[in-house]
Amino acid sequence: MAVAGEEARAPKLRVFFIPFFATSHIIPMTDIACQFAKRPGVEPTMVITAANAALIRPTLDHSASSGYTVQLLLYPFPSAAHLPSGIENLGSVSSDESWKIYKAVDLSRDAQDRIIREHTPDAIISDIPFWWTTAIAKDLGIPRITFHAAGVFPQCVMNNLVKNPVHDHVPTDSHQFTIPDLPGPSIKMVKSELPEFLKHHDFLTSAWDDLKKSQLESYGVVVNTFYELEHEYCDYYRKVDCQRAWFVGPVALCDEQGKAGRGGGESEAARENRERCMRWLGGKEAGSVMFVCFGSWCYLEDEQLREMALGLEASGMEFLWVLRGDGEHLKTEWMPEGWEERVQGKGLVVKGWAPQSAILDHEAVGVFMTHCGWNSLLEGLGCRKPILAWPLAFDHFITERLVVEVLKVGVRVWDGFRSTIEKEKVVVPAEAIERAVRKFIEGSGEGEEMRKRAAKWAEIAGAAVAEGDSSHKDLNSLIDDLFVLQRERKNGKHIE
Ligand code: UDP
Repeated sequence: MAVAGEEARAPKLRVFFIPFFATSHIIPMTDIACQFAKRPGVEPTMVITAANAALIRPTLDHSASSGYTVQLLLYPFPSAAHLPSGIENLGSVSSDESWKIYKAVDLSRDAQDRIIREHTPDAIISDIPFWWTTAIAKDLGIPRITFHAAGVFPQCVMNNLVKNPVHDHVPTDSHQFTIPDLPGPSIKMVKSELPEFLKHHDFLTSAWDDLKKSQLESYGVVVNTFYELEHEYCDYYRKVDCQRAWFVGPVALCDEQGKAGRGGGESEAARENRERCMRWLGGKEAGSVMFVCFGSWCYLEDEQLREMALGLEASGMEFLWVLRGDGEHLKTEWMPEGWEERVQGKGLVVKGWAPQSAILDHEAVGVFMTHCGWNSLLEGLGCRKPILAWPLAFDHFITERLVVEVLKVGVRVWDGFRSTIEKEKVVVPAEAIERAVRKFIEGSGEGEEMRKRAAKWAEIAGAAVAEGDSSHKDLNSLIDDLFVLQRERKNGKHIE
């Protein structure tokens, strides 16, 4: 390993970061790039399309103002994806049009190929969907590291089901089966709660073999998790799913000061929401507020919004509720009559983008109702918040098993039939929502136990990213490896 002084004098280690077109991938990858920028001699560059670049400018500006510069290199979002100009993100399209974003992934291949060859960085950290970057990197004799925005547990579950599709042999969609070959406690699921690509053939089923082959052939994998959180699965993953793995999270904890600006861009609306949320929370008692947010691209249908509104009103907790969606979904026809007036002062509804990390960090927030997106889980735990789980799509139901059954830091809101498919979903009634919240917060029952566990995880997570601990070590060992490979390449050695 070179000492810091030597690294600073040596040629820069130029690392390209290429995220998928989804905010929940762009945020953690940008956080990792900012961590790279802190190491002397490293020059990280986010390679990204224009509208997505706008989302990370506050984070990059904040990092630069602390002396850690991350460059931006733009490439065009493919016009053949037939999305209106400026629409380049999974969170900006309706579920009917999300296939266009995945189409854009395939269509971005040539532009990425061109930009990588033109600039020939020393290493590429690219998102899992961009499988062709492994071959480009090999061709140039540089390492490609695969980036995963999902945790190790959901990855292992999905991998094992692809390899051994036991779910194909269950009599009904509600019939329980055990996830095969998984370390740790026995995990049971039902077919209706699996990601769609495992239930029927879709774009991901077609791409899976290419993604996996490219991941296994890439130099290694970097994941936003911390070893202590899912160590049995991390050990297993290192054996079966990659050549090397670095667990470098929770990256949201790496820059406490920059939390408020993550992912929201510089728009007037994002700034106003930021100020409104923090001002409102400032007037609330510690632990009195439930934060309700379902990530950057999922949303609830009108009927469910209505039940949610009534359930939150009746729950006995104050609430800060983020409503996501396109213009249509942000209309308020679903709102029960007189509801806004009745909950005034007790509930704050925020439309569009809210500063989730900063909100979760606020002492007024006592409970986090989440869809169990991976970033949300890490951000919630990192801020000591127990979880009310309301999974919606893709891997959320798998991650919920980690939350509820393995870590025991949260409970399910609804125990009836649930599905990842929109048209199959059952509307969860207001009474069930009220019941779940009340049961969680009242007395010294299970909610209290979960709060204690979440607090313990927050300490472990904070320690993991601190100087010299597991995630910090992994991040530095990844950078060390890239420096060694750079030197070897300059000395004529080709990467295997
Ligand atoms: N997020 C946010 N404000 C919002 C909605 C989402 O800051 O109004 C952030 C959240 O903090 C997290 C990411 O967006 O970093 C969502 O990622 P996650 O993996 O939880 O869910 P996904 O968006 O993939 O469903």
